Amino acid sequence: MKGRAIHNYLVTLYAEQQPDTLLKYLTKQGADPALVCYDAHYALRICLEKDLLEASVSLSALLGQWEAGVGRALRDNPAAALKLARRADPEIAYTLYKNIAEHVISKNQDVSEAMALLAECPELKIEDILPFFSDIVNIDDFREPICQSLQEYNNQIEELKAEMEEATKSAEYVRSEIQSFRNCSVLVSVTDSCSLCALALLLRPFYLFPCAHRFHADCLRAEIQPTLGPARRNKLADLQRQLNTFTNAELSAATSNGLPLREVIRNEIDDIVASECVYCGEHMIQCIDKPFISDEDWDRVKREWE
Ligand SMILES: [Zn+2]
Ligand SMILES: [Zn+2]
Repeated sequence: MKGRAIHNYLVTLYAEQQPDTLLKYLTKQGADPALVCYDAHYALRICLEKDLLEASVSLSALLGQWEAGVGRALRDNPAAALKLARRADPEIAYTLYKNIAEHVISKNQDVSEAMALLAECPELKIEDILPFFSDIVNIDDFREPICQSLQEYNNQIEELKAEMEEATKSAEYVRSEIQSFRNCSVLVSVTDSCSLCALALLLRPFYLFPCAHRFHADCLRAEIQPTLGPARRNKLADLQRQLNTFTNAELSAATSNGLPLREVIRNEIDDIVASECVYCGEHMIQCIDKPFISDEDWDRVKREWE
């Protein structure tokens, strides 16, 4: 840190004796605040004290104090402010350009200069800077940017319209899909078997999917359970526990939406277990990279084959 003290002293000397050399020195030190040899905050204070505009603007940029830097530069050197705005990140550039535009316009109502700023910063729109002009400025000068801005809005409206149409179409599709499901029926015969355990389906409560796969409720639950995330798995266990431990009276009590508690719990279990067919839904797709034989079963299966 001894070196830093010497560099800080050098900055002070330059600021007092040779302001031009100070600028060269700052440029030479680079634009990374972590790598410069002097204390940037100290240097900025000295430059502000000595009223060294260019050096203080460049130090503001180094320290990321963009708005303050532009504000300082605008006092007597708008060109330096513009230089600073060009170096800033796009997120802050909009605010900087707007500040510059406000300064330039309120000072001399210069339309061409304002237009140049618009051209330089695409984020800055004509409507951002119009309020800075006095009422007597002829609107003819703004015709082109206003038309351009309106055109852009028009395009955005068109895009939104297209998106809305798309959304309406897919809503209609979903509606007709739901309607067709309502009229859809699947026949269950006595000889049907569970797609998981191959035992007769009608022996126990079962789920029937539109794809014609059919599973015993407990078989499907056992198949789905290991694939659930911890939160949903706990939720399922909890619902199951409620169903088993609550008394009949408790389960028959009506809930706030009018359904008995038993129905509500069963619906929630259905949502978790039977939201899609275990063979045809996304679950199967996610399993595509899983080996047929899991790691823990590997040794056992291998022995069986020997
Ligand atoms: Zn089964
Ligand atoms: Zn299926």
